Amino acid sequence: MSQLNDLLRDLVVANRILSNEDIVDAYGHISVRHPDNPKHFFMSRSLAPELVNRHDLIEFDQQGEPVKDKRQPYLERFIHAAIFEARPDVTAVVHAHAEDTLPFGLIKTPLQPMIHSGSFIGGKVPVWDIRKKFGDTNLLVTNMAQGRDLAKCMGKGNVALMRGHGFASAARSIIEVVRLSVYLPRNARIQMAAMQVGKPIPLSKGEIAARAAGYRPHAPETWRAWEYWANRAGCGDMIGEPHAHAPEDESKRVPKHDRKPKR
Ligand code: MN
Repeated sequence: MSQLNDLLRDLVVANRILSNEDIVDAYGHISVRHPDNPKHFFMSRSLAPELVNRHDLIEFDQQGEPVKDKRQPYLERFIHAAIFEARPDVTAVVHAHAEDTLPFGLIKTPLQPMIHSGSFIGGKVPVWDIRKKFGDTNLLVTNMAQGRDLAKCMGKGNVALMRGHGFASAARSIIEVVRLSVYLPRNARIQMAAMQVGKPIPLSKGEIAARAAGYRPHAPETWRAWEYWANRAGCGDMIGEPHAHAPEDESKRVPKHDRKPKR
């Protein structure tokens, strides 16, 4: 199967997982960069993620517009287009409204990694306030200027909260952005619970770095999480054999024409 087919299959599975884990509901979305045309990306048409199938996926251009597809796209597709534009290192993006993250968009105390599985948040999470630059809006990201302002707030990080709205997260692969998006609200919940009884102790920079260094895209632990989430979401039969969920190491990378078909 080609890399593109693998990615699109994983994108469908990721939609189902994010829904089943209560990260998205009728709203929220996940996208993946086109492996052969880095300026483009794929995302579902306007549809609740739980219902997304392969034929619902649309290719988008760098301005966030569908490529030769007249079906209704998500209104907030510019979140994805702008993050892909600003961050060549990013392969997958999630936008969601998970409730447990929302309080940290409203208060001065930053959301930050508190639990080992929250380490991939990376550090204190910035909060993007659409009102600062765009005044009173309906809070939705409906054009590239707003998307770019959000991407700027995210900077080189993995996630930005959106005041009164939700969050955007970005990572090198679909599984990494799914994991980040699943553990972000859990970490927020723990931080909130700890703040009610005292002053929580966040992970140190060294601990966050040690966690990041230990992550391997081909490791059985990585597949274990994917398999678990997919089965819980009722699509365990869709995931195929264990396969990579992040770009291979640069050292192992071979020129495209030298690659053998995977199967
Ligand atoms: Mn939204």
